[in-house]
Amino acid sequence: MSLPRFDLDTKRGQRVFKPTGIPGATVNIYGAGIAGLALACALRQKCIPYNIYDPRPDVGGHSYGINLLSWAYGSVVDFLDPPMKPYDFRRATAVDACFGRRGRIYSSDLPSFTHYRAIDSEVRKVLAQGHDIHWNHKITNVQLEKSTTHLTFENGSTKHSRFLVDAGGEQSAFRNILLPSSQATVLPYVVYAGRRRITHSEYRDAGYAEYFGTYNAAWQYPDKQGEPFLTVSKVHLWPDQKSNAAGAVVGDMPDIELRWTYSRPANGPSDPLYRPNRPKDEATKIPEAFYQEVAQLQKERLSSLMYKLFDDAEQLKNDRVLHWLQRKRLVSKNTLLVLADKKIVLLGDSAHGLPNLQSKGASYAMYDAVRFAEHLQGYLAGQSQLRDYFEPMHALWKEEVEMAEKELERIHDPMLIKRYPARPTEQLHVARSKSI
Ligand SMILES: Cc1cc2nc3c(=O)[nH]c(=O)nc-3n(C[C@H](O)[C@H](O)[C@H](O)COP(=O)(O)OP(=O)(O)OC[C@H]3O[C@@H](n4cnc5c(N)ncnc54)[C@H](O)[C@@H]3O)c2cc1C
Repeated sequence: MSLPRFDLDTKRGQRVFKPTGIPGATVNIYGAGIAGLALACALRQKCIPYNIYDPRPDVGGHSYGINLLSWAYGSVVDFLDPPMKPYDFRRATAVDACFGRRGRIYSSDLPSFTHYRAIDSEVRKVLAQGHDIHWNHKITNVQLEKSTTHLTFENGSTKHSRFLVDAGGEQSAFRNILLPSSQATVLPYVVYAGRRRITHSEYRDAGYAEYFGTYNAAWQYPDKQGEPFLTVSKVHLWPDQKSNAAGAVVGDMPDIELRWTYSRPANGPSDPLYRPNRPKDEATKIPEAFYQEVAQLQKERLSSLMYKLFDDAEQLKNDRVLHWLQRKRLVSKNTLLVLADKKIVLLGDSAHGLPNLQSKGASYAMYDAVRFAEHLQGYLAGQSQLRDYFEPMHALWKEEVEMAEKELERIHDPMLIKRYPARPTEQLHVARSKSI
């Protein structure tokens, strides 16, 4: 069990820990993703004991670029051990961190201080520091019995929990077993995402460097109905750094990974590129029709950056391409309240799934966790009911899921883009950033 930090023992110059002394208050967190780790950080700071479990072998694994909003990461940095300034958090996790940069994104919708582009695995690594995480704990069974939740893990161990937070994300095994009817809805969009690794010289000589400047992401809206919405972002891969005798870093400049997305509304159920029911392991099977469609793109309408990426459909075949499903999910408020009365709380993507194109899911995962830790403190002090957490939060999630769906509609529709150049809720996000 991870016990929270208490104080610095000045005599021994060491940190000492103490439990809260509140019986039954140990919070068992399932899922060491963004929500689970952010919650663990906040509980540690509030001296509330917790355990954290995850099916993966370690914090590494998949990595993708995520746009993070400052009202979200700005509320987590104080709970890190040691605490970080938001600026340093950005520098540690940004896609261009190896150059000491802070992941700037060009956006006409939002001022640059409000958001940046991070690497998801780097964010998790920073949040995971100092926690004793139980890796390799894949749930195979969940049983509810009066005030106890019994978890069985694939590795043969079990856990009898009186207080459980499910932060198992979109694929949460806990939620899937407990609430099998809570299915996600696949939205009618065709989305393909690819990665292309290039050397730094290719990046410079082919004009990418000039196009990106100091920014890390760009996109192109459709000009007319039927054209795709295109995005491209970049990640500077950390160099295999070596030091010379004077301690200076020598060696090649880091390679760059260009990450693109191609998306458009589905043309009905017979669209060969729209595969809402494809099994998980077929995400890498890319139909030839996709490359044919890219070859048909009207090249003269593409910006020079998109032209470089999408000009050669044959070249795209060498990229690592995935078919992305755009899912939305919202567990009903009534279900969440019933579970809260049994001291089971769902947070992050487990409770509300947003489509990953132009997503804000990672920011909400952090926000949910920090707000829940605050609420829990009040609950443990007898000031509120656990279920009260969901009154404001469920309304917020509902609004965000609806807005995310509308945003997908907007970015694919030239008429809507003209009418609404920026997403209406951005004003809310800017206001939140200023209030931190
Ligand atoms: C390709 C992609 C791009 C994205 N881009 C953005 C973006 O730009 N901005 C943004 O805000 N969000 C983005 N998102 C969404 C964002 O990553 C999620 O909303 C966020 O990570 C949710 O945090 P979470 O802690 O709820 O879940 P996760 O971070 O997914 O963590 C869930 C944890 O539970 C564990 N787990 C439990 N049960 C299972 C199981 N059965 N199977 C697998 N794992 C399990 C996992 O190992 C993991 O550690 C993107 C997502 C994807 C996939």
